[in-house]
Amino acid sequence: MMENLLDDLEAFKTLIHAPPKYIVTFTHKNPDGDAIGSSLGMKGYLETFGHTVRSILPSDYPKLFDFLPGMGDVLIAEYQHDACRNAIKMADMFVCLDFNSLDRMDWLAQEMLEAKKTTVLIDHHIDPEPFADLLFSDTSASSTSELVFHLIDEMGDIERIDLDIAEKLYTGILTDTGSYRFGTSARLFSIASQLKRIGVDDYLLNIRLFNNMTEKQLRLLGHCLANRMEVLDDLSTGIIYLNRNDFKDFSIARGDTEGIVNYILMMRHIRVAVFLTEQNHQIKLSFRSKGSVSVQYLAQKYFHGGGHKNASGGSSRKSLEETIRYLKEILPEFIEKQLKYA
Ligand code: 5GP
Ligand code: MN
Repeated sequence: MMENLLDDLEAFKTLIHAPPKYIVTFTHKNPDGDAIGSSLGMKGYLETFGHTVRSILPSDYPKLFDFLPGMGDVLIAEYQHDACRNAIKMADMFVCLDFNSLDRMDWLAQEMLEAKKTTVLIDHHIDPEPFADLLFSDTSASSTSELVFHLIDEMGDIERIDLDIAEKLYTGILTDTGSYRFGTSARLFSIASQLKRIGVDDYLLNIRLFNNMTEKQLRLLGHCLANRMEVLDDLSTGIIYLNRNDFKDFSIARGDTEGIVNYILMMRHIRVAVFLTEQNHQIKLSFRSKGSVSVQYLAQKYFHGGGHKNASGGSSRKSLEETIRYLKEILPEFIEKQLKYA
């Protein structure tokens, strides 16, 4: 639940209502819809007070989000080192959105810490690291975008949310909840209703976000399901992996593999889904689970990662084959424990 809400909210309000500042927002690497939506939504809100805001992404984003106004103005740290360094140097304040640990920022973390400027963290992941001066942590929020709306509301500033900001927050909510399939609450539906009242075209946004695959992406999904999926019936687990050759054959770009992991969970007897990709220097793992089974523990304990109960991620320095072997080694005990307490 939200910690220190009232004190921190007053302090945040004071910072926002102060004379115009230069503010930088940060989010996590491999940014998703919520990372981008909450960053740009917060940027739009802060700009209504006359602040100058730059949004920095540690790494590039899926082209899918190009339709969002202002996407062209974000700084991408992996390509724009100097511009990011300058923005951090110039900043009076930082707002971090949608991540709980500094390693999710790559090298930006050190620059941010060295700048020693007031830092606000708004996030919905478990156990945020204590690097921020003001912390708005709410693991019951479906998304950081929902939390941003809630904070703006609590500060009495709903009328500052224009259609532009509303669409960005709605995008974050829609992507992090898989179109209201998980993480929902009465508060979320109330917020969705208010965003719709502001004028959000939810039908159009759904089409833009979910009916927007290229032929290549759909064929890649087919390849994953037909040739790269292993179902471990006894462990109620499904695995899909993509190796370096697959990346070449399908010329996979950022975002092309988004959402593939969720297909595994569509099988009725599957409780845990794992999606592995062979990257340049590591194996990236995505975990999803159904109901009471927590993949957060799996990602944190065995793969230097974390996230949420039903959606987590991590990485491995082993080879793809060794990572899969290791996964199969640790799964039986994990599954047995999880199902026992389920
Ligand atoms: P995805 O599988 O979509 O990449 O990530 C699912 C969830 O796990 C997200 O909420 C994300 O924040 C979290 N996550 C993904 N990768 C990592 C990681 O390497 N470390 C941590 N701490 N969390 C991660
Ligand atoms: Mn999120």
